[in-house]
Amino acid sequence: MIEFKDVNKTYKNGKVALSNINLKINKGDFVFLVGSSGAGKSTFIKLLLKEKEVTTGKIIIEGQDVTKIPRRKIPKFRRSIGVVFQDFRLLPNKTVYENVAFAMEIIGQSSKNIRRRVPFILGMVGLSEKAKSYPNELSGGEQQRVSIARAIVNNPSLLIADEPTGNLDPSTANEIMNLLVDINRRGTTIIMATHAKDVVDKMRKRVIALDKGKVVKDEERGTYNYDK
Ligand code: ADP
Ligand code: ADP
Repeated sequence: MIEFKDVNKTYKNGKVALSNINLKINKGDFVFLVGSSGAGKSTFIKLLLKEKEVTTGKIIIEGQDVTKIPRRKIPKFRRSIGVVFQDFRLLPNKTVYENVAFAMEIIGQSSKNIRRRVPFILGMVGLSEKAKSYPNELSGGEQQRVSIARAIVNNPSLLIADEPTGNLDPSTANEIMNLLVDINRRGTTIIMATHAKDVVDKMRKRVIALDKGKVVKDEERGTYNYDK
């Protein structure tokens, strides 16, 4: 579903953030992207979302060369991918229900579809009781559930999670991982950038490790540790 072909990214200041990345991620995979700070994880994700452009090479997502998507089609392309962040990024003045509904409104879904779909998704992430709460009335784990609900409500085939457990205690992180596994089992491909060694080691999913912009490990059922 996703292919990086000879991808290089050099920033304008000359910094090489990714070099010669060649890899494939299949539909339905669960992939951890690991590596120390500065290894190139954010750049990898920004290239996938077309927030940054490759310097050379190609990124293909579902048969489409992302590097060739015209500027006017970028917003629509981005909305086809679910994204979850460490800091949740919820709209503070909207309720849980409204935060999730808003993601459907901006792609023009009918209010009938929204009224049917949002309660279903809130049930799936275990937040039916919190539909009328505001983000600041929720725990960190609950806020992350809302952000996951928002990311999957439009049924994306790809979910990107950037340090989704970074602000959570271990047991809450565990619950969030269970939810991501559940979403993955329903067919969504997941790419998760993380520093959470414990989480990665417990899950035994594919691990792609970056170091100084290069892939230094790519292992099925892998662990966090890698040789530089
Ligand atoms: P692109 O050309 O891919 O859009 P840029 O080179 O324009 O990326 O980078 C965006 C901005 O971030 C620039 O103003 C750049 O100077 C600045 N920047 C420089 N170094 C760093 C860094 N180490 N981390 C984050 N941003 C940086
Ligand atoms: P990570 O997410 O693994 O911490 P990044 O992708 O943010 O790594 O950064 C990879 C390298 O590229 C680092 O050396 C970083 O300083 C540099 N970098 C990131 N963004 C920019 C930018 N906009 N301009 C210049 N250098 C950048």
